[in-house]
Amino acid sequence: MEIPAICGGTPVRTTPLSYGRQFIDDQDIQAVTDTLKSDYLTCGPRVTQLEEKLCAVTGAKYCVAVSNGTAALHIAALAAGIGPGDEVITTPITFAASANCVLYCGARPVFADINPATYNIDPASIRACISPRTKAVVAVDFTGQAVELDEIRAICREYHLTLIEDAAHSIGTLYKGQPIGSLADMTTFSFHPVKTVTAGEGGAVTTNSKELYDKLVLLHAHGITRDRDQMEHPTDDPWYNEQVGYGFNYRLTEIQAALLLSQLNKLEQFSRRRKEIVARYDAAFSRIPQLQIQREIPQSDTTRHLYILRLRSDMLRCSRREFFDALGAEGIHSQVHYLPVYWHSHYESLGYEKGLCPQAERYYQEVMSLPLYYSLTNQDVNDVIYIVEKLIDYYKK
Ligand SMILES: *Cc1c(COP(=O)(O)O)cnc(C)c1O
Repeated sequence: MEIPAICGGTPVRTTPLSYGRQFIDDQDIQAVTDTLKSDYLTCGPRVTQLEEKLCAVTGAKYCVAVSNGTAALHIAALAAGIGPGDEVITTPITFAASANCVLYCGARPVFADINPATYNIDPASIRACISPRTKAVVAVDFTGQAVELDEIRAICREYHLTLIEDAAHSIGTLYKGQPIGSLADMTTFSFHPVKTVTAGEGGAVTTNSKELYDKLVLLHAHGITRDRDQMEHPTDDPWYNEQVGYGFNYRLTEIQAALLLSQLNKLEQFSRRRKEIVARYDAAFSRIPQLQIQREIPQSDTTRHLYILRLRSDMLRCSRREFFDALGAEGIHSQVHYLPVYWHSHYESLGYEKGLCPQAERYYQEVMSLPLYYSLTNQDVNDVIYIVEKLIDYYKK
């Protein structure tokens, strides 16, 4: 048996691998430098072009590009009319921003449990969380896999809830053949560098509703409009603009838009490679009884953002922490996605207690994310598989 690096053996990797990273080529660099030489660094033609492109990619009628995915969630929650006294149902297995956007509006996040096989929010648990105060659902396509949209949309229709889909992980994913982005009342995206396509920092909200779109446009730019039809006191003065609503400065710059436009040209290529890597991991790990493979619902044709390695703890002699450290010693810098949101001390201070979502808590104790990004070579992927096999072999009961 091979000795793991953490016990004094030789590490498999001399150059470490992280769980995610961006891929930037010469076209991306050219797009950015061209923008720097242009007339506009913000509020110019590239943001408009980007919004049109995101509509084309997602099949949505309208899109507002914003400064990051958290801003996208914030204005989506405000556009949905969420306010003090309201409750919004979301998953605990997500980045904190999916729930923080509810706090920003003075409302209360309510955490539904996950499906233990797909790791996405469980529609039955959503139903069990509904109260007279429930106003919306923030459903997260965790790892890139689409949530059970038919079931969740039916619940939202029945109880008159707004459905916000947090698609920070799922650009490029299809649900029943349709791209993510036009299937909820509003869909939010993030273009942080670990996500499938990046703007450095960036985000967007897509919707098919003109009414929501008009609200989102105001919210992302100070509540100020130049559209005379929207004004209370329109004048002929050429300089006149009017603040008709509440809003922020959540604009994306032209530089970021140019980078993202160039990245979106590679979305299919990125998506294909991510699927190949996931297929290789799945094929190797499904032969290992000590591991649980994430189950895919047949409706989702997934562009995976994260690859979750889940240990069957009862079949191993090591803890998740020991396995995580052993991966690190071999040269794989993993991460855990995610701590259940309500375990964060801020949420604890708001009165949330452990034990709320047993499936989510159990999931959290057993997982870590393996490297998954476009520029991983087949040799890198083979190294990861070899390392996981070696460690399982060492630690299995
Ligand atoms: C990354 C992420 C966000 C936040 O996006 P930012 O662009 O970093 O603000 C929100 N939700 C989920 C699920 C994410 O992974």
